Amino acid sequence: MTATDLLTLRPTWMEVDLEAIQTNALKVMKHAGAKNLIAVVKANAYGHDVKAVSQALWQIGVRRFAVATIFEGITLREYLPQDDARIIMLGVQPAEHADLMVNYRLEPAVGTTEWLDQAAQVIGAGRPPLRIQLAVDTGMGRMGANSEEAVSQMYQRILADEHFELGGVFTHFATADDHNQAYYDGQRERFTTWVEKAGIPRRYWHMANSGSALWHPEQIDTETIRVGSVLYGFNPGAPELKSPVELQPAAGLYSRLGSVHELKAGESVSYGATYTAKEDQWVGTLPIGYADGYIRRLGGMKVLINGRVEHVIGRITMDQIIVSLSQPEEVGTKVTLLGRDGDQEIKIEDLAEHAGTIPHELLTEFSSRLPRIIK
Ligand SMILES: *Cc1c(COP(=O)(O)O)cnc(C)c1O
Repeated sequence: MTATDLLTLRPTWMEVDLEAIQTNALKVMKHAGAKNLIAVVKANAYGHDVKAVSQALWQIGVRRFAVATIFEGITLREYLPQDDARIIMLGVQPAEHADLMVNYRLEPAVGTTEWLDQAAQVIGAGRPPLRIQLAVDTGMGRMGANSEEAVSQMYQRILADEHFELGGVFTHFATADDHNQAYYDGQRERFTTWVEKAGIPRRYWHMANSGSALWHPEQIDTETIRVGSVLYGFNPGAPELKSPVELQPAAGLYSRLGSVHELKAGESVSYGATYTAKEDQWVGTLPIGYADGYIRRLGGMKVLINGRVEHVIGRITMDQIIVSLSQPEEVGTKVTLLGRDGDQEIKIEDLAEHAGTIPHELLTEFSSRLPRIIK
């Protein structure tokens, strides 16, 4: 049995629609007028299975991918069919592992010359150059060269040192997905000015994340967008900001009723006995819990059974939840926790709003105990 076979011995699973991801990628590129896509597949492709997702994107011509860590980069290198695939690492990485980055051709985001000094020593002589993604901090405050001089200095240093080669230059927007247009404009202007003054050719630039590609396409200024969220088909912005592109959700979450039983009026369910039946009622138990990423704050959330809306009642436990049933159902009946059932739909945005968080966080918390069934 494969690992997935073993995981599906419990009838709880996530479905990933690769066609939806391919369609979203092409639609967003068209909307933003982009020629190239850097597909952000960090954190197991936002929980969707990085192997399946990166290979599906490869099929439609994507050749650049972004991850967050060296581990993710090395793993992804093994999944990609050809050596010319480019892998960018967006977070700060320890320079002491620069030799591994050369071996696996991973392109680290770098914002300081000290990092380059240390990496040059680690890499030694006679190796292929390490491609550097010059990080420019224009207002995100996480990492990167944060002045005109610093950008220029970094670029000159990369050009002059045989250990390095420029792979790209980028910045990250803090407010592309909300209403703070002035802050966005400030970041964009700083990036454009600093990078132009440093003399870095445009083909190296990339800045647009999902929010930027959706809501600021006319301001992107580069041929390349660097997006994650929209690929997976969710709206990265505040709920009241509508997406101008119709996105197709890629993830679904399903389970099957494991127990169906009747509560008598006055009886309670789950830890803390927080839910008590007001009258006799049917309930069902599902084999999914917070250890799968169906977090406790999803208590009270709706689920879909045979096209009807039912609700999670009582506290969510580590491995099981209890749902209300407006009529008795067969054990084994499919329950939709995320996705479509008949004319009803639960979106990841709905779950996030209910739990007081964002879709990105919920998706990346879906745990390895949930098998990803690739459609
Ligand atoms: C995660 C990340 C992205 C992708 O952001 P989305 O809003 O999901 O498109 C792009 N750039 C950087 C630097 C990131 O860290």
